[in-house]
Amino acid sequence: MKSSPLLVLAALAASAGAAAADPRPLVVLDPGHGGSNRGAAGTSGIFEKQLTLALARTVRDDLVARGYDVVLTREHDATLTLRQRVAVANRRGADLFVSIHANASAGRVQRGYETFVLTAAGVDVDGRALRSETGTPRAGVDAATALVLDDVERGACQWEAAELAFAIQRELRAVRGGAGDRGVRQDAHHVLLGATMPAVLVEVGFIDHPIEGQELARPATQAAIARALATAISGMLPVDAPP
Ligand SMILES: [Zn+2]
Repeated sequence: MKSSPLLVLAALAASAGAAAADPRPLVVLDPGHGGSNRGAAGTSGIFEKQLTLALARTVRDDLVARGYDVVLTREHDATLTLRQRVAVANRRGADLFVSIHANASAGRVQRGYETFVLTAAGVDVDGRALRSETGTPRAGVDAATALVLDDVERGACQWEAAELAFAIQRELRAVRGGAGDRGVRQDAHHVLLGATMPAVLVEVGFIDHPIEGQELARPATQAAIARALATAISGMLPVDAPP
């Protein structure tokens, strides 16, 4: 059947409207390292950059199935600077930014998982620098008020980041066991600097540990970790029920 031009126009208008009012929350996942930066070397021959990409892809598939929009900072084995990673999240106006990493230790003796949020100092130094860098002045307020509003927003972001970090630790505890819980830590992790949304960095385990490294290379372990991350993220960002 040939559709009339009017019907086509109406359909186009409807789809444009739907796109503009997309209620799905946007999560940016950052698979750590990549390309020439292999990250930590695992016991079973895999590198951190491979594990983080595999995890990020699985978390994405899980979140998309739950009704989220998800963007990866890298889809392949590409080299990215730290700045480029957070810039993806800022440019897309992400609701959350989660950088995924695996750990290594001297002597290969440590194991467990931990989640980092920025220190207050890190947030402070970078927040202002970023506002001037991105050049998006606030409309209708003077400079002093804008600074106060920036502080309030950064405070709220930090609060939510901490909440997400605790949720990630809780979900990982459920699948990896309580003994490995190294807790929520504060650090001036450079990949989180400049994020304009709640941002965390999760170290899912020690890829170089003789036992944990082997576990992390297994698809079943990766699937469990990915599900834990997706569950923690979706708990933070409810999806609007379809009408
Ligand atoms: Zn790393």
